Amino acid sequence: MTEEEQQKAEKMASRMLNQVGISKLAKLGIYKKLILSLSIDDFNALETNKIYFNPIFSPASQNKLSFDLENGSNIITIDLNTVKLFSSEEGTAIVLHEIGHALNPDKKNIEGEYAADNYACERGFSQYIISSLEKGKLIRPAEFSTTSTELRLERIKNDN
Ligand SMILES: [Zn+2]
Repeated sequence: MTEEEQQKAEKMASRMLNQVGISKLAKLGIYKKLILSLSIDDFNALETNKIYFNPIFSPASQNKLSFDLENGSNIITIDLNTVKLFSSEEGTAIVLHEIGHALNPDKKNIEGEYAADNYACERGFSQYIISSLEKGKLIRPAEFSTTSTELRLERIKNDN
């Protein structure tokens, strides 16, 4: 690992609310891809906006916090049982999309989806947003077979 990667890995670890989640995300190949796809500036934006990650296991799980959270902290919940149905690239794209939401709280509905997709696409994950949505429609039709999914797919495909 380069010095910068090491620095990013430390910043990533400081955003994670539980240790089990770190090891599971690492096993799924997502943890390292997140570290590599985010810049130091991106990590600084996570810090400034008090954004944390809390990997959980559906349908319900618990974990102990190892540090205090500030009022207004923004927690991105990652369901490991769902994320593992996707490839590591798709799982990373899904998490990047969620960071995009956290950084654009003022954008609602489809505009929020587009802003979140932009965040993932700008970091090189366009094709994996597309494949995660296509796969989502097959394995989770209740959640993914929506107008929003179709609009997002059309938009990203047209941009590429
Ligand atoms: Zn979204």
